[in-house]
Amino acid sequence: MKKPILWIVIPCYNEQDVLPVTAPLFLDELQLLIDSEKIDEESRILFVNDGSKDRTWQIISDLSKKDRHFLGIAQSRNRGHQNAVLAGLMEAKGRCDITISIDCDGQDDISAMGKMVEEYRKGCEIVYGVRSSRETDTWFKRTTAQEYYRFLNRMGVEVVYNHADYRLVSSRVLQHFADYHEVNIFLRGMFPLVGFKSTSVYYERHGRIAGQSHYPLRKMLALAIDGITSLSIKPISLIAGTGAIVSLLGFLGILWAIAMAITGNTVAGWASIVCIVCFLGGIQLLSLGIIGEYVGKTYMEAKHRPRYIISERTWEEESPRPGCSQKFDFPDTN
Ligand code: UDP
Ligand code: MG
Repeated sequence: MKKPILWIVIPCYNEQDVLPVTAPLFLDELQLLIDSEKIDEESRILFVNDGSKDRTWQIISDLSKKDRHFLGIAQSRNRGHQNAVLAGLMEAKGRCDITISIDCDGQDDISAMGKMVEEYRKGCEIVYGVRSSRETDTWFKRTTAQEYYRFLNRMGVEVVYNHADYRLVSSRVLQHFADYHEVNIFLRGMFPLVGFKSTSVYYERHGRIAGQSHYPLRKMLALAIDGITSLSIKPISLIAGTGAIVSLLGFLGILWAIAMAITGNTVAGWASIVCIVCFLGGIQLLSLGIIGEYVGKTYMEAKHRPRYIISERTWEEESPRPGCSQKFDFPDTN
């Protein structure tokens, strides 16, 4: 009867005010899950220091000396939240069975981890933590975020509505995720690409326990633009579509200008100028769109994403990839 080993991955950037408060909360939750036999005693909490300029790394080192459940890695410099989470997940994937990524500021309800592990035990490989309400966010952040999720869906990007980066991912999924070699990453839009059985767990989002948000408007916009441009080439298709419409209008404009010239309702030179402007306007946008389509295809090719991922086989693999094909014998939860 084997219980899964859980690694909680927590990105930290200049969080000296928050970490001393939230680290014991994470440890309590981990201990609770261990005591209730949901996870293995070998489970760990992995802090990823994202090039902090304050005492964050010092605090992480001290924590790891005090309790063996705490571990830490430090990035050589600040690379941003998404890269910090990715670094932690990749570090964890060969050493555990499941990971849960969560921010270190206590905004996401830590107690939802229990429900996530339950869902994993029922067979889900990815469990998305979804905010059931956004009351603690400002009106501006709430509205822009919700509109953004809708817009992403219209652009053909599959994202779970109101899910940020609080999620459980199995090691098996992470092994396949490692085959996504792209550099501009938007994790919440990429995990749905990997597939496998997934579900959502709902929780209340709180205010920050201490310190300040590291996502000012500038960074939020950069993440939003990354989300669209990393996962969708629809904007290019929109240019091609507009090009086709402008070309058609240009053609009608030319016919109209010729008709006006024939009926003699024009001054000399007007019809020829209108014809040239209409023709060039249409042809230029259409050509840009066509070139764009090829650029888009090149862009997607350059990502070297896996073309297929196999989730089940009717036979056991002889030499499984580490952490991939372990089958767990869960105790009966009923
Ligand atoms: N974070 C990080 N690197 C950065 C910015 C943020 O690792 O460059 C971490 C931060 O320590 C926190 C999480 O990412 O654990 C989310 O950041 P924050 O709480 O500031 O964002 P918000 O919740 O306001 O969107
Ligand atoms: Mg936060």
